[in-house]
Amino acid sequence: MYVIETIGLTKIYKSGKEEIIALKNVNLTLKQGDFVTIAGPSGSGKTTLLNLIGCIDIPSDGKILLEGEDITKIKESDRVKIRRKKIGFIFQSFNLMQALTVYENIEFPLLFLNIKTKERKNMVISMLEELGLTQVAKHRITDISGGQQQRCAIGRALIKNPSIVLADEPTGNLDSDTGKKILNIMKELNRSKGVTFLFSTHDPMVMEFADKVFKLHNGRLDI
Ligand code: ADP
Ligand code: MG
Repeated sequence: MYVIETIGLTKIYKSGKEEIIALKNVNLTLKQGDFVTIAGPSGSGKTTLLNLIGCIDIPSDGKILLEGEDITKIKESDRVKIRRKKIGFIFQSFNLMQALTVYENIEFPLLFLNIKTKERKNMVISMLEELGLTQVAKHRITDISGGQQQRCAIGRALIKNPSIVLADEPTGNLDSDTGKKILNIMKELNRSKGVTFLFSTHDPMVMEFADKVFKLHNGRLDI
């Protein structure tokens, strides 16, 4: 079974009388353990595609199967549940909660799931160790380095063992050395834990890290 399968995925935004076709008939599949990028210039539909797969938005037409389940024809409340349980996000500017500690940021997604306090604690502690963040666990986000913030964002995305981690231009705001570091951490976790990653980029350097590149142009996938 595929982790993700999109079938004829189409998204049309309407603003006033104008219709913008952001995605047109996109068919793609991702298997468990894939490390794949969506590449395309600005405006090609990358964010739209990730938002649809991430249960943040719904398509105008077509289907998305997440581990075989159609996530496009379900209630909004069920979509929220699936997002919380199965999707990990890494945002471009990380979106960490500045007033909380590293520990609290990584723990946060678990608070929406039915996990016992003790188990939650064990999960966070082992993730902190894995990412080399144990020493700064009690520091606030404002008091750690940029690299540590990246790792914290990765930890927050991975803590619930999601079916897939989505990252929308994760290196977009970073210089190329820092960008390579985050990609290397993602790849390591992909290799060691078999986590499926889908990330977008318009940067050829980033594409080289991926095992497979899907190219988007004007909302269409090159085949
Ligand atoms: P990318 O992430 O590759 O830059 P987007 O998915 O953000 O591309 O956008 C694809 C197209 O859809 C663009 O033409 C963009 O202007 C349009 N678009 C994106 N979001 C909206 C929206 N909420 N309302 C109207 N048009 C949108
Ligand atoms: Mg975008």
